[in-house]
Amino acid sequence: MKKSLVLVFALVILWMEDTGAEESDGFHLKGRTKRQIPKSLTVTTILEQPFAMTTDSGELEGYCVDLLSELAQALEFNYTIHVVKDGHYGSKDQNGVWNGMVGEIIRKEADLAVAPLTITTVRENAISFTKPFMQTGIGILLKKESSSGGSYLFGFLNPFSKELWIGIIISYVITSLCLFLVARLSPCEWAEPSNEQNQYTLLNSLWFGIGALTLQGVEPQPKSVSARIIAVIWWLFSITLLAAYVASFASYVNSTKDLTPNIETFADLLKQDKIEFGTLANSSTFNFFKYSKNPTFRMIYEYMDKRKDRVLVKSFSEGVQRVRDSNYAFLGESISQDFVAAKHCDLVRVPEIIGGRGYGIAASLDSPLIRPLTIAILEQFETGNLEYLHQKWWENTCTSAQTQAGWVPVQPHTLGGIFLILGIGLALGLIVSFIELVCKSKSKAVQQQKSCCSAFSEEIGQRFGKTENQESLEKVQP
Ligand code: GLU
Repeated sequence: MKKSLVLVFALVILWMEDTGAEESDGFHLKGRTKRQIPKSLTVTTILEQPFAMTTDSGELEGYCVDLLSELAQALEFNYTIHVVKDGHYGSKDQNGVWNGMVGEIIRKEADLAVAPLTITTVRENAISFTKPFMQTGIGILLKKESSSGGSYLFGFLNPFSKELWIGIIISYVITSLCLFLVARLSPCEWAEPSNEQNQYTLLNSLWFGIGALTLQGVEPQPKSVSARIIAVIWWLFSITLLAAYVASFASYVNSTKDLTPNIETFADLLKQDKIEFGTLANSSTFNFFKYSKNPTFRMIYEYMDKRKDRVLVKSFSEGVQRVRDSNYAFLGESISQDFVAAKHCDLVRVPEIIGGRGYGIAASLDSPLIRPLTIAILEQFETGNLEYLHQKWWENTCTSAQTQAGWVPVQPHTLGGIFLILGIGLALGLIVSFIELVCKSKSKAVQQQKSCCSAFSEEIGQRFGKTENQESLEKVQP
């Protein structure tokens, strides 16, 4: 009697362990469900950003890797993860043999496929899927259509950034002032002030600067070493600036040309012939067009089928590279396209999305893993963890400055060196003119038997103070 009581008690405890916890808290998995999962699993995945990517140390990271680790924690299993050997998602050949991750699951080389693997009818007949952990559709990835991003009327100002234009104006004014100063200080330019008008008045200096900047070589030509130093440096500065302006203007004009026709829908693809388009070979996207009854999608399929070898790509990254390098539109899953458009600012996904589908975790047919994994995925949804993972891996790194199809105006730091050389040249010119004046004052002091200082201040007074004519006039007036 005692023995049977103990037995009944033990059975009741076991039953409660199996059901009680979940009844009180909907989020927790049943003990039995957990126990159906083997302790160690082999997981296959595919390298596609940001789902699974290899780090510098050779490890895997990404959305799917994080998701797998969350699921392993929730269901208490260990796992080893590897990248699918043939690099395919999974399609059936004419003999009915599956390749890719689907093939690995069927051949029991992997227990699970945690990857952006689309749930499709043909696959569902060969393997089992959990409920989708991510929803997506089919979109068009394009190189960003060029637009001027500003007024065409003043487009000639766009090759340089605002800061650079301000820098150029300030440099021009400072250089003209320096030239004016040097022409005053240098005895060679200010040879006979009483009977010769100084050539470099402030206006003439400004005029000389503009002439050089536009390669017009205006008069007056400098005579002294110091003024020549400043003139040469300014000429060099002007030439570099013009070369940079011409180069930037050429690429600006190209970037504003309407090279890409306006494509906003799938039907637009068929209305033009400038841009080729295609999908990943043997992908669920390709099959979507293949089996579609929609006339537009059928025509898209026929276009791709006729040019199979040219327009279908082998991997997602190849498709993205082709969009960036040539006139090519990549038709693929919008969620992956959103990721690349967020990382490469020259790319854009057009707004139209067709063919809603989902990614599920795959296991072999009738695998006991599917149900607990589905529950764990739902739990991840309900706790907001999947949304957090999405935000983490789909972070947008495009800034508004990096718009216009990769073209950006020349920034001051690009021409920083030439500004530095100009500064050094101006300083050198001023120093040399000062030395020239000191030398002249010395010889004048010897000639007129004055102190060097008074000869120097006399020279300075002549240049910046009152002229002799003014002095004599003042003497005459009472
Ligand atoms: N996720 C797709 C698949 O499982 C591959 C990408 C695509 O179809 O664009 O086949």
